[in-house]
Amino acid sequence: MNYDGYLSRAAVMMRESAIRKMGAVSARVPDVISLAPGYPSPDTFPWQDFRHITDGLLGARDASTLQYGPTRGFRPLLDAIRGVLRGRGIEASLEELLVTTGSQQGLDLVARVLLDPGDVALVELPAYTGAMAAFRNVQAELAGVRQDADGIDLDDLDRVMASLRAEGKRVRFLYVVPNFQNPTGLLLAREKRRQLLDAARRHDILLVEDDPYGELYFSDVAEESDTRPIKADDLDGRVVYLSSFSKTLAPGYRVAWIAAPSALAAKFEIAKQATDICTGALDQRVVWQAIERGVLAAQGPRLRTVYQHKRTVMERALQQHAGGLLTWPKPRGGFFVWVTAPAAIDSEALLSRAMRHGVLFVVGSAFFVDGSGRNTLRLAFSAPSPERIEEGVRRLSAALHEELETLRQGVGSAGTSAVGTGGASSGTVTPTG
Ligand code: PMP
Repeated sequence: MNYDGYLSRAAVMMRESAIRKMGAVSARVPDVISLAPGYPSPDTFPWQDFRHITDGLLGARDASTLQYGPTRGFRPLLDAIRGVLRGRGIEASLEELLVTTGSQQGLDLVARVLLDPGDVALVELPAYTGAMAAFRNVQAELAGVRQDADGIDLDDLDRVMASLRAEGKRVRFLYVVPNFQNPTGLLLAREKRRQLLDAARRHDILLVEDDPYGELYFSDVAEESDTRPIKADDLDGRVVYLSSFSKTLAPGYRVAWIAAPSALAAKFEIAKQATDICTGALDQRVVWQAIERGVLAAQGPRLRTVYQHKRTVMERALQQHAGGLLTWPKPRGGFFVWVTAPAAIDSEALLSRAMRHGVLFVVGSAFFVDGSGRNTLRLAFSAPSPERIEEGVRRLSAALHEELETLRQGVGSAGTSAVGTGGASSGTVTPTG
C-alpha cells in the first residue's frame, strides 16, 4: 500500500536527520571513527553517583517516583533549576519555568506555540539543524542571518529584517546559540549580546536563546563571564531561554528546561500536555538529586578539562596533517571544530572518500538554510578518545589530500555521496544532532 496520499503536508516535508543517518552508517562500517555526532564523552558520566541516587530512589518505594507527575515538572527539580539559573545571572520564578524532555522538546514547543505556517523564524548561518527541523515541522519559513567571528552579524540582521518586512512576511523570532554554537563553536561577544536585545526590541521580535554548552568554556581562551546568557539582561521579557542537562550530566535522562515570560511558559505547558504529559519522573528525580548532592557542580571543572584537552588534540592533529589547507575558528568551548576546506572541495564528495578511509563528519551545508557552505565540515571532538581523534583527523586528511589530487588531475571525485547525506541545497535531508 502506498501511504503518500495519507500524509499530512507537514509529514511530506519532513526530512531525515543526516547526523542520525550517519549513526547507522558508522554502525555498519567496521572500525569507523565518527567525528559526526555531538555526543558527550561517556567517560564523563558520573556512573557511581547515578547508581547510588537511583538505588536510593527506587529503594524508598515512593510511588511518585514511578508515577505520572505535573506537566511543568517535579517541583524540587524546578527549585533546583532556579538555583542553576541564578548561577548564570538569571532570576526566574516558578511561573516562568518548565521542565522539558530534552531541549529538543523545548524547541518543538517553541515552534508549536510561536509559529504559524508561513511565519518566518530567523536562524544563524549556519545553525543547529535540530532547531531548523522543529521550526520546519510546523511549516514555518526559515531565513538566515550571517555570522562574524564573534557571532551574529547585527547589520545583516537589520538587512534581512528589512527585506522580509518589505515582502510582507511575519517574523516571529530569532533563534541563537550564543555559547559555543552548534555547529561553529563560536562565542557571541558580550557587547553583541546587549546589542541583540536592543535589535530584538527595535524589530519587535522575540529571541529564542538555546544554551546547552555555556558551562563548557575553555579556560585558555574564555572565562565564565563571557558566557553570561542574554536572558540575564532581559528586562522586558523578550527572551525564551532553553538549557539542558544533556551535556553536563547525561543526555540519556532527557531532562532540560525552558525559562520564559510566564504567559508563554503557560502556553508551553499546554502544548507539552499533548506531547508527553510529563517528563520521566525517575529521570527528573535523578537529576534533582545530582544537583542537590553537588554532582552537577563537580562535573563543570571536570568537563571543561576533558573537552579542552580533546579540542587541543584535534586542533594539533589538524595543524599537523592538514595545516595550510584547512582553516577553522579556535573553539573556546563546546564540542565542535568548524572547518573550511579549499573552495574546490565539495564536502559531500569528501565525505564519500572519508568513509572509505574509515572516518565520518557532518557536511557543513546541512547547517545552512540558504544551501551555502559547500566546502565546510563540522568535526565533533566530544565523544572519541584523544587517540581516536588523532587517528580520525589523520584519516580525514588522507582523504582530503587524495580528493585534492583527484581534482588537480581533473578526474573529478565520486560525486554522489555513498550515504546520500544530501545537504540543504539538495533539499533531501535535514540533519539533527
Ligand atoms: N540545542 C543544541 C544547540 C544542541 O546542540 C542540542 C543537542 N545536540 C540540543 C539543543 C538538544 O539537546 P537535548 O535535547 O539533548 O537537550
